[in-house]
Amino acid sequence: MKVGLFPGSFDPFHNGHLEIVERASRLFDEVVVAALRNPQKSQALFDLEERKSMLEAVTAHIPGVRIVSVSTLLVNVARDVGATAIVRGLRAVSDFETEMQMAQMNHHLSGVETIFIPTSSKYSFIASKLVREVAHFGGDVSAFVPKIVAEHLVAKFEGSASEQDEQDGKEEE
Ligand code: ADP
Repeated sequence: MKVGLFPGSFDPFHNGHLEIVERASRLFDEVVVAALRNPQKSQALFDLEERKSMLEAVTAHIPGVRIVSVSTLLVNVARDVGATAIVRGLRAVSDFETEMQMAQMNHHLSGVETIFIPTSSKYSFIASKLVREVAHFGGDVSAFVPKIVAEHLVAKFEGSASEQDEQDGKEEE
């Protein structure tokens, strides 16, 4: 059985990610989507469990997809799920350098191969960081993320906006 492992922070998962899962599902018998804690990225917006439950909801229509959330080295996850290959999306040449380095490191550590799926041009400008920024300032992210994710973003920032208002109120007192 061919297993593709698609890892990422997915904070949040957006339509560019979704397209990669859909395309990978045509290449593999099973696609394991792994939401990872990225030690390079300071504070996550959604915790791993929130990301996992959103991922389960938005990929439910794709056959052969399994979601895991982990905070360990990627090659350990690849071994645990029996991955045939790691799948990564490539948006632009700017992604290539770091992706190449990661692929070589993972291959060196465990022999696992990485395959790259080039994103469609309609999704190539979408990045989790930008989605977070737009949502933070109340912008409309519905064109970039699945509906469930958009709802979670609104709820998340409504909550933090009222906390901020409370804080601002206290500072003014
Ligand atoms: P990271 O792995 O750096 O935490 P992300 O969670 O943002 O990054 O992305 C996970 C994977 O999805 C990576 O392979 C990344 O290249 C890919 N990806 C990110 N944005 C897009 C996009 N707009 N289209 C296709 N693939 C993407």
